[in-house]
Amino acid sequence: MRNPVVDGVQPSTFGTQPVGDVAEVAEGVYQLKVPVPIPLVFVSAYLIEGPDGWTLLDTGFDYPDGRAAWEAGAASLGLDLRSDVGRILVSHFHPDHLGAARWLQGLSGAPVYMLGEEIEHSRLVWEGDGSVAPFAENLIRNGMPRDLAEEAASAMRSDLRLPGKILPLRADEQILLGESSARIVHAPGHADYQYMLHDESRGILFAADHVLLRITPNIGLWPESQPHPLARYLKSLSGMRGMDVNLVLPGHGPIFHDLEGRIEELLHHHEQRLEVMHGEIEERPRTPFEVSGAVFRETLTLYERCFALAETLAHLDLLVLQGRAQRVEDYPAVFRAA
Ligand SMILES: [Zn+2]
Repeated sequence: MRNPVVDGVQPSTFGTQPVGDVAEVAEGVYQLKVPVPIPLVFVSAYLIEGPDGWTLLDTGFDYPDGRAAWEAGAASLGLDLRSDVGRILVSHFHPDHLGAARWLQGLSGAPVYMLGEEIEHSRLVWEGDGSVAPFAENLIRNGMPRDLAEEAASAMRSDLRLPGKILPLRADEQILLGESSARIVHAPGHADYQYMLHDESRGILFAADHVLLRITPNIGLWPESQPHPLARYLKSLSGMRGMDVNLVLPGHGPIFHDLEGRIEELLHHHEQRLEVMHGEIEERPRTPFEVSGAVFRETLTLYERCFALAETLAHLDLLVLQGRAQRVEDYPAVFRAA
């Protein structure tokens, strides 16, 4: 019998075009690999042709290479971004998904949609007072040296400008999608109010950053996160078993078909990572920053170190929930195995 954890879920033969190019990945559904100026290399936007105009799903960062890819990709499909777009859907608030929404809205005049709660969250994160002090303070509280934390907080800050108007979607709502329709599926963990689109009649899942192949979605506890992101993520993943899906169209990395197999791999990955982190705080109490340095050993940029720390916090938080760890100091935070 094939063991998915050992053999690994294989990528699809669909969507293997180079970054910047567009390919049809299902009837009337096109994937555009929009370049991004971060190590992920590209974000996959999806363009869906329908009787009421084109639906665009996710947008990339707003920068020259991203805009050029949109212009060229749309032209190759005979899609006029100035007149043929019916709506712009954004899966979650991260800048590689939401970044170019304002520009695309300006070009097309089309409405932009996100989950209602994510709209508020986006405005809080990107249109707040711009102060990096609370973000830096949170890094310091979790053991990052002050000079590093202050530099990191400034690096994480961005000048993302949001569309003037964003309209709300509701979880479980059914929307028209091209010639078909799809259900809005709330997918918490990577972002609190991320959603996926499930075209049940065709077995297609637009998975955003909830289920990725080759990389594991970053599940982090951030200062503005809802409590217990990893617990909510694992619950959501487990709940997706048995979903009617034969084509997974993710926000990054290869397209794939075996959703069930990938769910098991991701559950296994977090189980292992919980074990490793538990091991780290078994020898002696440690700050989250120390744990993240031991677990994510590869040399990381400061930007990546913030993600590693947030990911570590999410796992320590779940260990505490499970009664396997305790927070023994609060400033800086220190955890030890229970
Ligand atoms: Zn994301």
